[in-house]
Amino acid sequence: MMNAIGFIALGFILMEVFGWAIHKYLMHGPLWSIHKTHHRPSKYFFELNDLFSLLFGSIAVVLIIKGVSDFDYRFWMGVGISLYGMLYFFLHDVLIHRRMKWFQKPKNMFLKGIFRAHQAHHRTNEKEDAVSFGLFVVPKEYFKEKDL
Ligand SMILES: [Zn+2]
Ligand SMILES: [Zn+2]
Repeated sequence: MMNAIGFIALGFILMEVFGWAIHKYLMHGPLWSIHKTHHRPSKYFFELNDLFSLLFGSIAVVLIIKGVSDFDYRFWMGVGISLYGMLYFFLHDVLIHRRMKWFQKPKNMFLKGIFRAHQAHHRTNEKEDAVSFGLFVVPKEYFKEKDL
């Protein structure tokens, strides 16, 4: 059981680490033409940028299918990636960007910090000069109490 939790955590942590690096160096780099659909207003519900979520989701599905017969590390890492994806969806797409209007602005300190950090990321609509590329791991200055 300890192994299961360890690999779930590993999948989750790797997603934040790789997500940060991919966002900073690829999405705001050679893959900007895809990612910019998330930085510009659009009249459509889906963005080309959603392909990244689809890609990460597919990796999780493949890992789960490959590891399910004996519940090995692939299965649990797939679970960790899926967990990350679900939390990412609720925080980033529902709570922050309000693609579904399910919740009001967060009042909780931790959520407020994440919210501010991601707003800071969206302060620019350009490829260059963006800040704050992670979702959960962000500079602690965003958690200081001040008005949104
Ligand atoms: Zn971005
Ligand atoms: Zn965003």
